[in-house]
Amino acid sequence: MVFIVGARSKKHYMLHAIIPHSAARNFPLLTVAGLLAVWNPKVEFMPQQELDELQLKLLKTMVYRLYNFSSFYKERMNAANVTPDDIHTLADVTKLPFMTKKDLREYYPDRLFTVPRREIVRYHASSGTTGKPTIVAYTRSDIEMWSESLARALSSIGLGPDDVVQVANTYGLFTGGLGFHYAAEKIGAAVVPASTGNTERQIQMIQDLGVTAMAATPSYMMYLGEVAEKMGVSIKDTTLKYGLLGAEPWSDKMRDRIQEWLGVTGINCFGASELAGPLWSECDHQCGIHIWRDICLLEIIDPETGEQVGPGERGEMVLTMLQKEAFPIVRYRMGDITTMETEKCACGRTHPRISRITGRVDDMLIIRGINVFPSQVEYCLHTNPEVGNEFQILVDRKGYMDEMMVKVELKPEAFTDNILELNALRERISSRLKSSLNVGAKVELVAPGTLPRFEGKAKRVVDRREI
Ligand code: ADP
Ligand code: ZN
Repeated sequence: MVFIVGARSKKHYMLHAIIPHSAARNFPLLTVAGLLAVWNPKVEFMPQQELDELQLKLLKTMVYRLYNFSSFYKERMNAANVTPDDIHTLADVTKLPFMTKKDLREYYPDRLFTVPRREIVRYHASSGTTGKPTIVAYTRSDIEMWSESLARALSSIGLGPDDVVQVANTYGLFTGGLGFHYAAEKIGAAVVPASTGNTERQIQMIQDLGVTAMAATPSYMMYLGEVAEKMGVSIKDTTLKYGLLGAEPWSDKMRDRIQEWLGVTGINCFGASELAGPLWSECDHQCGIHIWRDICLLEIIDPETGEQVGPGERGEMVLTMLQKEAFPIVRYRMGDITTMETEKCACGRTHPRISRITGRVDDMLIIRGINVFPSQVEYCLHTNPEVGNEFQILVDRKGYMDEMMVKVELKPEAFTDNILELNALRERISSRLKSSLNVGAKVELVAPGTLPRFEGKAKRVVDRREI
């Protein structure tokens, strides 16, 4: 009995139609060159009831471990009047307290880690709101879980050993580069670790190495298309067929454009450094991102009341990572607004899907795939004694790239008509912003009293991008 389900890029017929789930679980993965294979059929097609049991077992084990071995979680659970013995069903997850990014910052750098240092094999970081980054840590098994999750996702699109995956996400402290790298290697694809930038070279490599999939931000994919046109290269005529796109909000309109103009199927990918990194994607039916239930317990809540909302109802995504060792994440409020779809997908996978993210509950901006909080800009600006109280962030999209400009009001005593002095100050502020935010911003210094004042909550961000 085989898991072959049709030629890649054609509509395929899933094995569940051929053999029943119970039988499917007993078969190993079979990969045949050029044909679609399923990475982990046993889990990906697991019937709901078994998934419920598995998820509950994982949840109970994790809550028990945290209650007994982490003073942070023990205190939190005590404050919420809950102990591991109160978790009898999956619905009991709501008894556990929420976690937010604020907790991660407060317990910086490693006070939420729950394993001894010698078990940690990797660190990553994402930018924080106080100028400090948030550090995340991984054990060997955390790295394994992360690549397993994304390996399932990449296989669900039809990628495998015949593919060449160019990773145009940043390698380094950000999770995007290494995340796709490990997963693509795991499914046997050949990886081109291009990282960001040097677009002409990226296009050259697509042509020379027969790249079939590229991991990038959607805006970089569009930019690459423009540069290719300038070079006289039609991406449509290359081997590139899949864009593994995420790390920033994008729309169906943008996907249509990428697909029509570049001939590249745009696959929506999701993850965050707190969770591990990029973890999930749509399958080739492109109808929502599959969130594996053995790895993560997904909830959607009303951000005002904290109560769960039903399938299809819009709310804030809350995630509990069920297998993380070094840096557990329980009922973490992501801030992202989406819906959960629980109907079985046309691909046969039984795990829930999230729809396109339509916004955030907080004021986080995503500039070129990098999270930027206005409070982070404020903190950084105020490390300069010349800066007054008011500033404004203007975000635009030039071509397909995000551009950020920060208008900064100076204190009266710092404002001068000496252009050289002002230029030097502007340079200093600009380079501090760049190193604190990990993304460049143009800086404009303005006279005291010239920026708008607000009676209520200040509106410091003007986002003129259209996605
Ligand atoms: P990344 O390296 O993927 O940017 P971060 O932890 O820095 O990871 O940022 C995670 C945030 O990025 C998410 O909470 C979400 O707001 C945003 N994000 C990631 N992928 C997507 C996506 N496909 N669509 C919309 N927003 C996304
Ligand atoms: Zn699917």
